[in-house]
Amino acid sequence: MNIGTLFIVSAPSGAGKTSLVKALRENLDGFTVSVSHTTRAQRPGEVHGRDYFFVSHAEFETMIEAGEFLEHARVFDNYYGTARATVENALAGGQDVLLEIDWQGARQIRTLMPDCISIFILPPSLRTLEERLKARGQDDPDTIARRMRDAISEMSHYNEYDYLIVNDDFDRALADLRSIVVASRLKTGRQSEVYKDLIDGLLA
Ligand code: 5GP
Repeated sequence: MNIGTLFIVSAPSGAGKTSLVKALRENLDGFTVSVSHTTRAQRPGEVHGRDYFFVSHAEFETMIEAGEFLEHARVFDNYYGTARATVENALAGGQDVLLEIDWQGARQIRTLMPDCISIFILPPSLRTLEERLKARGQDDPDTIARRMRDAISEMSHYNEYDYLIVNDDFDRALADLRSIVVASRLKTGRQSEVYKDLIDGLLA
């Protein structure tokens, strides 16, 4: 019986999404974070297979043709996609799965899996967003200006999501994110699967 829940987390770059998801992973068991495939260049410090599977355009297109993606989208001139098999296997094994994807991918997943839970993370201000992008030290000023425009375009989709978190205070935002996942695990449909024997006994 499939009792895993699929979570989508989206945010503009610099909103702190990756750090929040990493902290959630250290803070809560029972879920898998899907590692996406991308055609973008590997950044310093990123590890193939941990942060992304870095593949060529040709490899990505072969995967699209073979139907290997649950969703995929073009973001900032590159392709990004979620491999179907990993997600479906984890969900089938009762694991919750968390996807860190953009709004385009989120739309595709909502159509395929209407029971998914989607969460959008906003930064507390545009200034904070810009400072966080600059602090990464990975991009030149032109790229940062473009990433700011892309961030605003990503944020314009916040209203398509089930939950909205503002990452002003990191610990607060983490507690918010954690409570969404924990509450979803307490839903009656899921609890009655987990506690089937108990409930059968109680009602016998
Ligand atoms: P970055 O290149 O900064 O790691 O990510 C750029 C954007 O691509 C982010 O908005 C991120 O959420 C999105 N992204 C990462 N992986 C996927 C994916 O598998 N599918 C989709 N649709 N978007 C993704």
